[in-house]
Amino acid sequence: MAKQVVTRTYTASIRNQPQVSDDLDSLGFSASKLWNVGRWTISRVWDEIGYIPDHDELTAYLKSHERYDDLHSQSSQRVLQELAEAFTGWYANRRNGDTNANPPGYRKHGDEHPRSTVTFKQMSFKLDTQYNRVRLSKGSNLKNYWSDFILCEYRTRPDVDLSTVENVQQVRAVWTGDEWELHFVCKVEIEVSESPGEKTVGIDLGISNFAALAYEDGHAELYPLNCLKQDDYYFSKRLARCDDSDSEQATRLNHKKSARRTHYFHTLSKHIVDRCVEEGVGTIVVGDLSGIREDEENGESKNWGKHGNLNLHSWAFDRFTNLLTYKAEMEGIEVEQVSERDTSKSCSYCGQKCDANRIERGLYVCDSCGTVANADVNGAENIRQKVSPSLACDGGDRSNGWLAQPSTYLFDKETGAVAPQEHVTS
Ligand SMILES: [Zn+2]
Repeated sequence: MAKQVVTRTYTASIRNQPQVSDDLDSLGFSASKLWNVGRWTISRVWDEIGYIPDHDELTAYLKSHERYDDLHSQSSQRVLQELAEAFTGWYANRRNGDTNANPPGYRKHGDEHPRSTVTFKQMSFKLDTQYNRVRLSKGSNLKNYWSDFILCEYRTRPDVDLSTVENVQQVRAVWTGDEWELHFVCKVEIEVSESPGEKTVGIDLGISNFAALAYEDGHAELYPLNCLKQDDYYFSKRLARCDDSDSEQATRLNHKKSARRTHYFHTLSKHIVDRCVEEGVGTIVVGDLSGIREDEENGESKNWGKHGNLNLHSWAFDRFTNLLTYKAEMEGIEVEQVSERDTSKSCSYCGQKCDANRIERGLYVCDSCGTVANADVNGAENIRQKVSPSLACDGGDRSNGWLAQPSTYLFDKETGAVAPQEHVTS
C-alpha cells in the first residue's frame, strides 16, 4: 500500500437554502451575464480580425467592464476561463473537420437569465468545518451595506468529513434545477494498492452496450444495459400513471429510479475494476464524452434516447466515469480520458478509415482488410490504441473475428452482481 494525493469533489446540500437562495441567484445570474458579455466580445473580435482571444486576453479586456465586478474577481476569471476553453474546444473540432461542431452559445432561456455555476477559489471563500459553514464572497457591485458575503450552512454525506481532507481548493455553487447545492473540490490523501500490471484496456461507453471493453491481448467484453432498459420501461409506465409530474408519488418514483441507476453504476464500475486487477491492467483508457455535454449546453443534445429506447444523458456517463476513476485509483490503476474522434469509424486492425467500411447489425466490417468486429469493441480497441498503439493481435486468425465474439456480462437481479451471460439466472 502507498499513499497518494488525489482530487475529489464532494457534494453538499445547503441547509439554510431559503436564507441564501436570493443571493446565490443573483451571483448565478451575474455569471450568466458575464458569460454573455464575453461571448459577444469574442464574436466581435472574431468578426473583425478572425482571431479568438484567449483567456488572459479576454480577462484583460473585460476587467474594467461593470459586469466583471458583480462577482469576486476569482469567480469572474473562472467564468471567462470556461468560456475561452469552450471556444478552444470548438475551434479545435472545427479545424479537425467536424463541421457539425457549434460554438458555445449564449446563456439565456427566453427572457430569463439561467443560473450559471459560480466558482469560488482560495481568496473568495472561507470554510468553517467546525460549524459546517462556508462564507462565499460577492463582487463589489453586489455587496450591500451590511454584508459582502453569503454564509451557507452545508451538509455533506455522512461519510464525508471536510475537516480531514488535505485542503479544499474550490467551492462551486451549482443550481440543480430545483435548488442550489455546493461542490467542494478537495485534495485527499488515499491509500492505493500497487498497480496490478502494465497492460491497457480500452472502454467505449455507449447506448446499446453501456460499456465495451477491449483488452490488450485481444479479448473483449460487453456490458449491455439490460437492467436499465427494464427499469426505464417499468418506471416510465408507472410515472405515466401519476396524475401530476410534481406529485409526491412521482418524486418518490424518480428518486427510486435514480437510486437504482446509482447502484447499478457502482456495481458495474466495481466489477470492471476487479476484472482489470485480474487481467493485470495498469491503465484504463476511456473515451472522453465532453463533446456530448457541450452539445447539450447548446440545446442541441444528441438524441441518445432514440437508439436504445433509453433516455441516458451525458451526466450518466460522467457519473459512471467518475465512479470508475475513484475505484480504479484505489487499486493503483490509472484512468486516462482520450478523444473519441474517429474511434467508431476506423478499423482497429489495419487503421483504415474509409467510407466503404460499414456497420451492419452491430458489426464493424472493414473493406480494406476484411476484419469483422463487434462495432463497440472495435471502438474500444481504437480508444485503447490511443494510449498503447500496439496491435492487439499479431497475425492471429482473423477469420474467426477476434473482436467479433466478445463475452457478454449481464446484471443478475437475483445476486445483485454482474456475471457472465450464461450464469445469469434471471
Ligand atoms: Zn481493416
